[in-house]
Amino acid sequence: MFAQLELHEALCNAIADMGYTKPTTIQQEVIPLAMEGQDILASSPTGTGKTAAFLLPAAQFILDFPRQQHGATRILILSPTRELALQIYEQAQAITAHTDIVCGLITGGINYGTDRETLEQNLDILVATPGRLFEHIEKESFDCRDIEMLILDEADRMLDMGFSDVVNQISSEARWRKQSMLFSATLEGGGIDKFAKDILQEPVSVEA
Ligand code: AMP
Repeated sequence: MFAQLELHEALCNAIADMGYTKPTTIQQEVIPLAMEGQDILASSPTGTGKTAAFLLPAAQFILDFPRQQHGATRILILSPTRELALQIYEQAQAITAHTDIVCGLITGGINYGTDRETLEQNLDILVATPGRLFEHIEKESFDCRDIEMLILDEADRMLDMGFSDVVNQISSEARWRKQSMLFSATLEGGGIDKFAKDILQEPVSVEA
């Protein structure tokens, strides 16, 4: 049951609003480990509830450790496609609906003026596609210095789409982070092993 995961009441209320009654397998496995601060390498296809498996501990982290002063983004979630990024962002909005956590979305196809307005907020959680985010890093309109947690979703697709260099550069910009998680439909082949080694530190492996 969700109650056993010891999530904040505001998150439990959001889960109830969303109609979730019990955690999926990946959520049962990932959420306690993530709340201990572990790096996680998760093999979990779409449809397993993987999005909430990383969003719930991400939101819990922000609630456990409120921001001490105004600053840049604290949790960065990278997704290979705009469509997936939007879905993650919408789920992040729903999960944080009863909190004052601020979520943002930066992807290609949105105009730069809108991006600027998004980035001017003190974002707690930013969902982004790697290409557009890296443009902002290069133009110095996005600063990775305050990132405390990095989450990669559908890492296998990121590699297939040729994002490994850009993601590795973003990872090195975000080098002061405390925790990283990598979710992938498969952990077999395609260079995912090396990618995970570059991004994660002593990860715990989890399978849905
Ligand atoms: P995902 O694998 O994250 O794409 O999630 C697949 C679908 O399952 C989405 O529509 C989620 O809203 C839904 N979902 C996630 N966690 C739960 C849960 N614990 N109970 C019921 N539905 C869920």
